[in-house]
Parts: sequence; C-alpha cells; structure tokens
Amino acid sequence: MYLRIIETFISNITMGLKNNIEKFDTLGDNHIGTSTETPMRADAFKLSTDKKIEIIKDDVQHIMETLGLDLSDDSLNGTPNRVAKMFVNEIFGGLDPAKKPKASTFDNKYQYGEMLVEKNITLYSTCEHHFLPIVGRAHVAYISNGTVVGLSKMNRIVDYFAKRPQVQERLTIQIVEELQKVLNTKDVACVIDAKHLCVNSRGIRDIESSTVTSEFGGKFKEKDTRREFLDYIQLETKF
Ligand SMILES: [Zn+2]
Repeated sequence: MYLRIIETFISNITMGLKNNIEKFDTLGDNHIGTSTETPMRADAFKLSTDKKIEIIKDDVQHIMETLGLDLSDDSLNGTPNRVAKMFVNEIFGGLDPAKKPKASTFDNKYQYGEMLVEKNITLYSTCEHHFLPIVGRAHVAYISNGTVVGLSKMNRIVDYFAKRPQVQERLTIQIVEELQKVLNTKDVACVIDAKHLCVNSRGIRDIESSTVTSEFGGKFKEKDTRREFLDYIQLETKF
C-alpha cells in the first residue's frame, strides 16, 4: 500500500519534471521571455569578477573537452580563458549594476519641446535561449519635460541592457523604462529591428528574417506622435 503511494508520488514528480523540461524547451525555442526584469539569483554578486572568470574558464574547458577537443593544441589552449573574460567583462557585462551608465542629465535650456529621435543605434546582444548573437539597430525617442540627456547616453543605455542574455521584447522595455527614469517622463519610445543568429544560422536557418519590437510610453501611445516617430526612423541619412 505504502509502496504504491510512494510509486505514484515519484511517478507524479517525474512527470512534472518532464513536463517542466518540455515547457521550458518550448518557451526557449519560441523565444518567449517570462519577465521584464532580467531573472537574477539573489547571490548574483557574491563572487568577484575574477572568481567568476576563473570558474567559467573551467566550465568552458569542460564543454570543449566533452566535445572531444584537444586543448593542448595551441589554437584552442587560450579559448576557455578568452571566452570567460568575454562573457564576464564584455557580452554579459551589463548584468553588473555597477556598469550602468551614470544618469547625468541637463536642463532643457533651449526649451526644445518636440521629440528627439536617435536612430540606427548599433545593437549587439545575446539571445538568452541559445547564447547566440542578436545584431541590429535600436531607435530611441523622447519628448523632454524639462530634462535632457546627452546623445551618447542613449547609446550607452542601449548598450548596457544589450550586454546581457536577452529576449528582444525585454530589452526594448528595459531601455524605455531606464530612459523614463533618467528623464523623469513617460514620453519615451524604442523600436528595435534585429537579426537573431539562432534563427538565421541554425534551426529554421532563415537568413532574411529580422524581428521588430517596440515599446511606446506616454504621448507615444497617441497615434500621431507614434506616426511622427516612425516616419523619422524611416529617413535615410547620408553624409
Ligand atoms: Zn535564440
């Protein structure tokens, strides 16, 4: 009797785990994110940067060896350390709040009351489901309510949030929410057009497709304002 109960219990747990693994696989394959905050562990910053690099180096080495690669080859020997440094300092450097661009703002002395658009901001990010690059352009706009930011600050904010394992929808929202905080206004918008190498180079292998996401805050929810922003980003800039 007891054995039966325990068997049923274990079988239910196994089924649950299997369903969960299938669910998470499907979520990842379809590039569905689960939250607008980057999911972080409570102990995310207990380890120093150097310690993280040291651990990841061993992990990468383990992956390479499991794949059957001979790390005594000169060409492969430095790869684990190189990848570990790249993960921590570069492509996932935006996980570290200490690297968030400082929010220096200025008074809107010119009383410029129209929208300011910065278009074609180069975007390099990483798909959190496959750890493959997302490459594209971000277009960001705001209408000042008395505060302005330097143009390069907008690039830096895009870059900071891009340097995380990401889903494009979350990245778009994080950029808008940060600028809303910095500029103290809801009137911020962002459109991202990007290629996901996990779609372009593997899986469905569709080289032509790109993904467009948008987030419109405050006045940008109004049809005319949104139209104006979208018209500006269509402008072809030539020098
Ligand atoms: Zn992906």
